[in-house]
Amino acid sequence: MAKNYYEILEVDKSASQDEIKKAFRKIAHKYHPDKGAGNEAKFKEASEAYSILSDEKKRQQYDTYGSAGPNQGGGGGFNPGDFDFSGFGGAEGFDFGDIFGDIFGGGGGRRQQQKRGRDIQVDIELDFKDSIFGTTRKVLVSKDSTCASCKGTGAEKDTETITCAKCGGKGHIKEARNTFFGQFMTDTVCSECKGEGWIPKTKCKECKGAGVRHEQEEINIEVPVGIENGEMIRFPGKGEAVSGGITGDLYVKVRVKKHSLFRKEGTNLYADIDVKLTDAILGGEYNLETLEGNLIVKIPDGIQSGEVLRIKGKGVPYSKNGSRGDVYLTVKITTPKKLSKAARKTIEELREEGL
Ligand SMILES: [Zn+2]
Ligand SMILES: [Zn+2]
Repeated sequence: MAKNYYEILEVDKSASQDEIKKAFRKIAHKYHPDKGAGNEAKFKEASEAYSILSDEKKRQQYDTYGSAGPNQGGGGGFNPGDFDFSGFGGAEGFDFGDIFGDIFGGGGGRRQQQKRGRDIQVDIELDFKDSIFGTTRKVLVSKDSTCASCKGTGAEKDTETITCAKCGGKGHIKEARNTFFGQFMTDTVCSECKGEGWIPKTKCKECKGAGVRHEQEEINIEVPVGIENGEMIRFPGKGEAVSGGITGDLYVKVRVKKHSLFRKEGTNLYADIDVKLTDAILGGEYNLETLEGNLIVKIPDGIQSGEVLRIKGKGVPYSKNGSRGDVYLTVKITTPKKLSKAARKTIEELREEGL
């Protein structure tokens, strides 16, 4: 029994060409064998249905003779093997590349995407202090860069340009492409002129006409203040160059070394400090080694273990006018492990007092 092409494409018998095209596009996307959930049999079936219904003459014939078809008994109707995709182009205004361009991805067609150089990633490691206050770094990146001599044109200075012989100045070449279900035409960017349609009469000596050169480039990295561990800084256009396309980006991934005392949370810094028992009882001073030199912190008398001291404005800078977060110090009171005879006596007196 022959197939119902309308059912296969899930359209009404009265569907317009536009609806048929849309329906086929949807099904082709769904069942394309290159896709994970592809189904070659269904895809072929839909292609077959589309080949008939998209052609008004064939459609009419199909509608008139019904699913039996005019060739019934004579050979079994439509034979997918005869199906020639290259046949139904142009004349009916059907652009094969239009439908398949996005399925095959970048293969060709009119929606040729502009080429783009690769993105590059480099990792840098920063001291904790540099992550708080920002710093500059130089990184050496080995990459394809735009040729400085010809500025990427590939042409020797003041040379004439001539029409590319390979593509005849069109910049792209029509090529037959074989797929499992047949052959069709694709547009590919001309490899000789890289889509420009012209080539220099004399090629740039520095890059041999490539427009790019593999070089080592030293790049200055401005690390902003307050950067987090694992954060990525993007430098647009600092990636790899590609002839006739856009340069990729450079991504700098920052790893921040741990600090022996401070932890960062947002714009504040946190640390635990060991306070002597006597300082905790009588009050005193604590010599804090900050990221910017020493700071004497006043310990109020009678402070408890776990109490938090706040130092205003010594945290992470967060605005251009010099605003900064705070430093929070959690007090850990240290109990002496060894006592002199005299000290022991004094402490025992304290105990007698009930302390
Ligand atoms: Zn050059
Ligand atoms: Zn060309």
